[in-house]
Amino acid sequence: MRTTTLTRQYQLAIGLVAILSIISFLTLQQLIKTQLTAADVVNVSGRQRMLSQKIALTGMALIHATNDVERDVLRSDLEDASELMEASADALFYGGTVLSPPESHVLPELRSADIRSLYLEKPTLLREKTKNYLDHADSLVAADASELRPGNTHAAALQRTAPALLTSFNKVVSAHAAQSRRDIGQLRYIALGILVVTLTALLLICYLVFRPTVDLVEEEAKELEKANRQLYRLSSIAGLTGVSNRRNFDEFLENEWRRGLRDSAPVTVIMVDIDFFKAFNDSLGHQAGDECLKAIAAVVAEALKRPGDLVARYGGEEFVAVLPGTDLPGGQEVAETLRARVEEIGIAHPASEISPNTTISLGVACVIPDKSTSPRDLVHQADQSLYLAKAGGRNRVVAFEEKGIKT
Ligand code: GH3
Ligand code: MG
Ligand code: MG
Repeated sequence: MRTTTLTRQYQLAIGLVAILSIISFLTLQQLIKTQLTAADVVNVSGRQRMLSQKIALTGMALIHATNDVERDVLRSDLEDASELMEASADALFYGGTVLSPPESHVLPELRSADIRSLYLEKPTLLREKTKNYLDHADSLVAADASELRPGNTHAAALQRTAPALLTSFNKVVSAHAAQSRRDIGQLRYIALGILVVTLTALLLICYLVFRPTVDLVEEEAKELEKANRQLYRLSSIAGLTGVSNRRNFDEFLENEWRRGLRDSAPVTVIMVDIDFFKAFNDSLGHQAGDECLKAIAAVVAEALKRPGDLVARYGGEEFVAVLPGTDLPGGQEVAETLRARVEEIGIAHPASEISPNTTISLGVACVIPDKSTSPRDLVHQADQSLYLAKAGGRNRVVAFEEKGIKT
């Protein structure tokens, strides 16, 4: 259950981080685009300024030229500059492309209203001014040699309007720079917001998902190790002593119960538990504990030699014996033998509160099976008796009787 919740939280966290990454990427893209636009516009506007100056100067030189050769060279210069300026103007005003490579981006749309007004609306009408300017330049290119002399109206117009055009281009550049600064300022806030949200998300993910996951994994690893140890012990002890396991016990008791029901024969169960075994492990170590368990299992198995009897490991340091066809006094006798035998073999137990040697407590219960009871009731009675043997001071046998408990 906890694992499912954590997995869902983990997926959610991954999703969140992915979304934040995408937003960061888009913001960065937007930032790059803004920078590129500004660079493009500044570049093209700079070129326009340079070309407008060149056109004015070439126009001036053309009307002062003294021979045809000179005039032809200047005409061709003027024509080139005019064409280039027109192409740049198209790029600026209509989003066309500028011819030569580094400025070959398509210029984006004119975004803010003030920039748009600079280009297209009165009183600036940059587009109109550029068009007029280039018309004058083209008229000069087309003019006869006779018209090319000081006082030419087109050359004069170029001279007159060049400074205003220059000022307009300056305005364009500074308007774009201001717009770009505004855009970058906004993006800076967005980037800061994303950073704060990302860091907070990561922190929350650490606290709410990763830490609990690591805790859970550690917890499960510990439990697994414990279970493995238990399994290993169970199998090794069962293997070494020939004592049955819990499943054998359940099946065996079930069978004997049915047989007793048929034959009206008694079934006795003896629960055996080592006294202060935790303290034994704590003082002498787990390995010594295992040896002790094996020794006691061997004693119990040794003492119950009747072919119909069964000894099984019931839990950690608990054993259970089933004695079919044995009545309560008989069961008590066997239990007492087991207790005495364990005491006799003298396994040192320095941490026991009642004896220098290891001792066991035993609970005995006997029943002639009938329809109103079950094997579980019998085991429960034996367990209750064992509990009383512990409470009564340990190293003793307690028997369960309908009218009360007998020691
Ligand atoms: P009590 O006299 O009341 O029975 O006290 P106890 O310490 O024997 O009982 P408790 O149930 O507190 O502790 C049982 C201990 O038995 C805890 C566990 O470390 C130990 N134990 C259980 N199985 C094994 C095993 O396979 N090997 C070893 N060495 N110790 C085991
Ligand atoms: Mg116990
Ligand atoms: Mg015990």
